[in-house]
Amino acid sequence: MSNPDTDHMMDPAQIKQLDRDHVWHPFTPMTPYIEGNPPVIERAEGFRLQDVDGNWYLDGSSSIWLNVHGHRHPVLDQAIRDQLDRVAHSTLLGQGNSVSARLAKRLVDATPDGLERVFFSDSGATAVEIAMKAAIQWFANQGEKRHKILGFTNNYHGDTMGAMSVAPDPVFHWPFLEMLQEQPRLPYPYWFHHPDGLSTPEEAAARTLTSIQQLFASEASEIAAVIIEPVEGAGGICPAPVGFLKSLSELCREHGVLLIVDEVATGFGKTGAMFACEAEGITPDLMTLGKGLTGGYLPVAATMATNRIFEQFLGEKRRTLFHGHSFTGNQLGCAVALASLDLMPQVMEALPAKIERLWQRAEALRDLPLVNDLRGRGVMMGIELGLDREQRLPIPAEHLAGYRVTDRARELGLIVRPIGNTVIFMPPVGAPQEIHDEMFDILEQAFKEVLPGMAEELR
Ligand code: PMP
Repeated sequence: MSNPDTDHMMDPAQIKQLDRDHVWHPFTPMTPYIEGNPPVIERAEGFRLQDVDGNWYLDGSSSIWLNVHGHRHPVLDQAIRDQLDRVAHSTLLGQGNSVSARLAKRLVDATPDGLERVFFSDSGATAVEIAMKAAIQWFANQGEKRHKILGFTNNYHGDTMGAMSVAPDPVFHWPFLEMLQEQPRLPYPYWFHHPDGLSTPEEAAARTLTSIQQLFASEASEIAAVIIEPVEGAGGICPAPVGFLKSLSELCREHGVLLIVDEVATGFGKTGAMFACEAEGITPDLMTLGKGLTGGYLPVAATMATNRIFEQFLGEKRRTLFHGHSFTGNQLGCAVALASLDLMPQVMEALPAKIERLWQRAEALRDLPLVNDLRGRGVMMGIELGLDREQRLPIPAEHLAGYRVTDRARELGLIVRPIGNTVIFMPPVGAPQEIHDEMFDILEQAFKEVLPGMAEELR
């Protein structure tokens, strides 16, 4: 019998074969991928994704940290349809477009006071490249050569060369390490991973601030900027201690070093505040946004700058920031971003209660065997598995401990991904309480089913 919902589909096995034969997946070891049976998504409804085989999954990673209001949201879908009747894309090189102009103003209003200029691009990594280049050229335009950008261990800023250079990772970037400009790096102030084996967030904050002060004392005149994630995302959802960003911002100001806050992951409600910078009461010189900017619908990213930064790019031609991407300011993306921002006030209002409940429920995981650390902020949660909490002993990578939990969760109907042995749970900020609960029910069940057996095996 004909089914209007599925008639347009190819045979699921055929589609999966095309995917396996021809798609090179990002951040995905391809041998296990090709040998495995990963879902190939066909459609979505609200906070659920359906694969070509007809299985439904809750989107427990917000489609890698970007979905805000759910999929096929009528308001967002309509915004794109309406924009399609006007224009899908025209360039921002040397000309404007009405949608990106309106979005720029909305972003200026939504972000901390003082961020007045928006450089649009299309991914978090490009937003970071632009911020880094703007920082370097800000000094160059004033006749100062500064080529250093201070980054933090285990931070992640994207996979382009500049972004990798401030967050090099020996596992992911080994073939490129020699090509990357070497940059100063200091331990991120997360106590559990701090190399000095610290036991509180306060100690971690103090230790890292002292290290920055020492570095600034000798090298500040060579450092253009500091780049930091307010919560280490790909590093395993490790939050910087409350107040750290504020102290860092003061130190940067004192020493004449620019501050770039990378809010690609944390922006648009994920930490409980619209932006982590807002919660700390700071205005960085440059701030990067992506992911949730369009509600997770289309690839639009933004680098926000203060007027103090922007003004140095005015005047003679050579002062221009000669950087651009073909799809900069894409109207479809900007239209859906505007619609998503319209929905944010209700989302933010409902968020504190959901976050409180999420962390109450998370306590059920803390004392399970092999749970070394439970951490995060807002709707960003990392559950790190390890052999011993006191000694902070990790589980050797070959056991794929994180995947064993997330594979079971997927069988139970929840998509989540691990990073190393840390299971990342990041429900869409706009999902209703019942959906957060339904997702957490599955997550908890997966942990409770997998961990006791795995603990026995690893003994
Ligand atoms: N910065 C941060 C903090 C991120 O989490 C990410 C992506 N996970 C990026 C930058 C890069 O974004 P994109 O994948 O859109 O290039």
